[in-house]
Amino acid sequence: MRASVLCCFTRIDPRVTRALGPAEYVGVSGDPLDYWRAIDRRWTGAVPLVVVEHDVEVGPLTVPGLIGCDEPWCTVPYPVWTGSQSHYTRALGCAKFAPRLQQYVPAAAFAGRWQHLADYISELFGELGIPHHLHDDPVSHHHKEPRCQRSGHFTQP
Ligand SMILES: [Zn+2]
Repeated sequence: MRASVLCCFTRIDPRVTRALGPAEYVGVSGDPLDYWRAIDRRWTGAVPLVVVEHDVEVGPLTVPGLIGCDEPWCTVPYPVWTGSQSHYTRALGCAKFAPRLQQYVPAAAFAGRWQHLADYISELFGELGIPHHLHDDPVSHHHKEPRCQRSGHFTQP
């Protein structure tokens, strides 16, 4: 099945590209809205969109499992930082949006800066009653524990 696999980055971890392989790697350092714009451009309603962030190392079956799943909105949980016992479950680090979901919800409905994108998507889809599907597939988050906790899902240089 065809799919769009998108990896937006400011600083990409080499383990991420090695694990993910062929994908569209898009630099988003220029503007806080670039991350959303990259998603918007691929929100065509034609093929599943898989988003993997620049510090998330997928397993060999992670992306095929997301693409092959019929659920509209899927995410893979991952530790908030390396070694953390807390996990993001509805973040954008490793997620899939099915074509029919893209047709139903325009990307404009969750437009925002990178810091807010995951929360906007999660809140909007929750309000719309879109079922959320968790894939319990092991992925690694190469993200150091921050000195103070922030809500962002994405680190800028
Ligand atoms: Zn799924």
